[in-house]
Amino acid sequence: MQNDLHQKCMAIAIEEAKKAKSNGDWPFGAIMTKNGEIVGKGHVKDKSGGDVTDHAELVAIRDACHNLKSNNLEGCTIYCTNEPCLMCAAGIFQANIGKLSLELRAMTFYVYYAQENYGSKT
Ligand SMILES: [Zn+2]
Repeated sequence: MQNDLHQKCMAIAIEEAKKAKSNGDWPFGAIMTKNGEIVGKGHVKDKSGGDVTDHAELVAIRDACHNLKSNNLEGCTIYCTNEPCLMCAAGIFQANIGKLSLELRAMTFYVYYAQENYGSKT
């Protein structure tokens, strides 16, 4: 049951990542859940939107704060298609998010994608 929720949430995060890709950004996405319900989601749009802080995790945090009308996301879980950078890790900490879920299979795919499409060795 818990694994089903993880797979469902990660699939939605990957769909967010595909939106970023279609906009010419890095293919990273994130969603936020609380009690099994999606309360926020987002994808990278720092290049296309011109705001260096528009990383998927922070966009998802802003969306969840807006939807929950709170800056305290205690009890939420964030699902990311990539390992959060230091800026996003700080945002996750500041928002009091208790659980971070990563999908290594998705990360592997998107690292491969980035190497193929952006020439990155990361
Ligand atoms: Zn970040």
